[in-house]
Amino acid sequence: MNDFRFKKSLGQNFLIDNNIKKKIIESANVSDKSLIIEVGAGNGALTRELIKLNVSVISFEIDKTLKSELDKIKSDNLTIIYEDFLKVDLKEILKEYNYKKIHLIANLPYYITTPIIEKVMNEIIIDEMIIMVQKEVGDRFRAKPNTKEYNSLSVFLQYYFDIEKVTYVSKNSFIPKPKVDSIVIKFTRHKELKKIEDLDFFFKFVRSAFKQKRKNLRNNLRDYDLEKIENILKSMGKDLTYRAEQLTIDEFIKISNLLV
Ligand code: SAM
Repeated sequence: MNDFRFKKSLGQNFLIDNNIKKKIIESANVSDKSLIIEVGAGNGALTRELIKLNVSVISFEIDKTLKSELDKIKSDNLTIIYEDFLKVDLKEILKEYNYKKIHLIANLPYYITTPIIEKVMNEIIIDEMIIMVQKEVGDRFRAKPNTKEYNSLSVFLQYYFDIEKVTYVSKNSFIPKPKVDSIVIKFTRHKELKKIEDLDFFFKFVRSAFKQKRKNLRNNLRDYDLEKIENILKSMGKDLTYRAEQLTIDEFIKISNLLV
């Protein structure tokens, strides 16, 4: 790796802290019918630990110049795909495998954190995600109502997953040292999901409610039946002067279910 030139534009900050690698691996709830997806193999820092879990690991890496380094990892349970993760057909790739649970375990390239999460959520049923992300981004994913970090993505993610912090990660845990702080977070899919009558409508409604963060519900929800919404809010002791960040996920579900 001595002559390797790190590409900032690809989010190449490789993990060098063994303690953090250990915490990531130990927090995973992997069983014999699990399959692990890693996005961004890099120099294999995490890949080398993932294969020790003895289940199939599919790792994606966009930078083909890392191949000679990654070729040094010899393992029957590892497949490395040198492609842009955002462009691959995940369902097609997964057809070749036998599994009951899918885990995304990765030190993500930060410039595409949200597109990666959206892709896996749209294309497959993901059971667990243990991902390294920029600290502020992780804080938003986990944010609770009545905080400034709480947004539509917090609502979507928390609808599907229980989200917890695994560990804070200092800049010194990487080479080269990134400018931002990091955090490892763990997403565990809820065993049962609350009933939503129309999922597309729910997501659209939540996105509209948060459209302009400083504006209240009356402004952001102008395209919906405001009278009906006002009545539903009244039953919750709230009204249209509230802002989206003051509504819980259950309240969003209740309103959207009554609107469809
Ligand atoms: N897994 C290694 C580690 O833990 O040290 C590397 C993590 S590094 C933060 C992110 C890696 O993602 C880089 O190796 C980068 O080249 C790769 N990457 C960036 N964009 C990608 C994409 N669209 N698809 C697949 N890999 C990508």
